Amino acid sequence: MAYDDQNIFAKILRGELPAIKVYEDDQVLAFMDIMPQADGHTLVIPKSPAETLMDLDPKAATYTIQIVQKVAKAIEKALDAKGIVLMQLSGAAAGQTVPHVHFHLIPSSVHDLGKHAVQMGDQEKIKALAEKIKAAL
Ligand code: 5GP
Repeated sequence: MAYDDQNIFAKILRGELPAIKVYEDDQVLAFMDIMPQADGHTLVIPKSPAETLMDLDPKAATYTIQIVQKVAKAIEKALDAKGIVLMQLSGAAAGQTVPHVHFHLIPSSVHDLGKHAVQMGDQEKIKALAEKIKAAL
């Protein structure tokens, strides 16, 4: 499907919407999920326009997964996470709600995951968690 450049993450990438960022370089952005399924729920997105993992350029996918690992290590260290769920939903049929490819890092257990994208988080608490993750990068 054609990439919709009006999606929320495209707007965050262009600076048209705010985000609590933990990492950014010329190819990737990592920021806190606004409706976290657990404390420290972070999203990692490539900057290149792709809707799903299958649409993503393999080189961008390779680089993005390196940053996913880097941020996961920071979450582990900063929040003393005993386990991290890496989740990637490709396609509305899989439950994808924002049509720009992204990787969820959720410090939790698959058995304890809260509901997906339903409950707005406490933004001050999320900011404090982001500061801890940033300090551990
Ligand atoms: P998906 O369902 O596409 O795999 O995940 C989209 C994620 O984006 C959800 O976890 C949802 O909470 C999060 N999200 C939706 N809108 C926003 C937003 O405006 N800002 C941020 N930071 N996260 C968002």
